[in-house]
Amino acid sequence: MTAIGLFRCRTNETKCPLTNCFRSLFSRSQGFSGYEHTELAGVFTLQEELEANLDLARILKSKGAEAIHVATCAFARKGEDKTWHLGGGFVDNVDDLCAAIAQETGIPCIKGSAHLPEGYTPDVFRP
Ligand code: SF4
Repeated sequence: MTAIGLFRCRTNETKCPLTNCFRSLFSRSQGFSGYEHTELAGVFTLQEELEANLDLARILKSKGAEAIHVATCAFARKGEDKTWHLGGGFVDNVDDLCAAIAQETGIPCIKGSAHLPEGYTPDVFRP
């Protein structure tokens, strides 16, 4: 069983209740397809400041998270055709954020959760 911590976007906080993130996590599909078993360790909303996000990542780890995922809408956007495309997400510098989270927590940080853009394999940032 792998306990997953999840970061969602502040901009989307009152628009999406994480429906597809949870669906993908519990069915081990999309960004979670590499796990044999999954459980949810917790969810936090991304903050403006990196240090604040690292504090939250440390809390997720202290609550048992063995990996932390950043929601797909942080770095991808839904096109007019309703499919998802890389770029134009709600958060800048997601790669730097994921690398810092992995470094800070000592656990992998994975860029992606639900409805991955076509052809995108989630980047895994390791400590
Ligand atoms: S990745 Fe999709 S399901 Fe998850 S929070 Fe963003 S919009 Fe909602």
